[in-house]
Amino acid sequence: MGNDQWEPERSIKKTELIMRAKKSLGQNFLKSKHALRVIVETADIAVTDTILEIGPGKGALTAALLEQAARVIAVEKDDELIPFLKDVFAAEIEEGRLVLIHGDIMETNIDALGLPQEYKLVANIPYYITGALIRMFLEATHQPSRMVLMLQKEVARRIVASDGKESLLSLSVKAYGIPKYIETVKAMFFSPRPNVDSAILLIKDISKQFFKSAAEHTAAPQSAEKTFFTLIKAGFAHKRKLLARNLESDFKKENIAAAFSACDISPNARPEDLTLAQWGNLASHLS
Ligand code: SAM
Repeated sequence: MGNDQWEPERSIKKTELIMRAKKSLGQNFLKSKHALRVIVETADIAVTDTILEIGPGKGALTAALLEQAARVIAVEKDDELIPFLKDVFAAEIEEGRLVLIHGDIMETNIDALGLPQEYKLVANIPYYITGALIRMFLEATHQPSRMVLMLQKEVARRIVASDGKESLLSLSVKAYGIPKYIETVKAMFFSPRPNVDSAILLIKDISKQFFKSAAEHTAAPQSAEKTFFTLIKAGFAHKRKLLARNLESDFKKENIAAAFSACDISPNARPEDLTLAQWGNLASHLS
């Protein structure tokens, strides 16, 4: 693995090098140059692009992104990493090519980040906020056009639903974009080594088109988005129950039966059997 190992190339003080990784902040620093290359290639970065990076850490991915993009806006929560990053990327910060924001992304207003209309989100994300972070950016009014994320392998697999079984998570992503499993990154390529393997996931063509199309037949896009999530949350509430029974918590029995019939869905269907299109159709009939 010798040559494949990423190390900061610039002047770094010894005390900063021995800084302990913080488990509470999901700090597993990426060491593989190959993985960094794949992330950057998957992001398909143009020289004019602005990239939002969550958790630059010690800057491995930040440096790779700065080689391709016009500008990187990076949000880091760890107080100790901020002076370190300011030192390593002093020139890029001075040129305005790197905007370093000290804060918690989950408490940040996306509109306050100074992002242009079109931007891409690229990050080796802290795993403790995986679901919340993906939701935050997919549901946002100002969505990224694509996301390239390093996340737990099992979560990436569930999002693409490679076994053909959709879940609340896979549908919540597919309603906004097209997820693609790019490749597995073994735990040994991180420091400290996490307990599980990771994967690079692409979510491309992000938009709210799915809800805009649904709203052509019913209410406004926001209302279609709300009905869709009410529906899938109710639908997956109890795994062993039939879909129709699960929906009874939020919808009238007779409306469910009529909607199933209109959508050509079996009364015995289980939530994981329906495709995104069928859920969309069902949402239009139940709203
Ligand atoms: N990008 C670096 C890399 O690839 O080596 C570090 C990735 S590490 C998995 C996650 C990073 O996210 C850490 O630097 C951590 O301090 C930061 N972080 C954790 N929680 C955060 C939050 N809520 N907002 C912003 N950054 C956060």
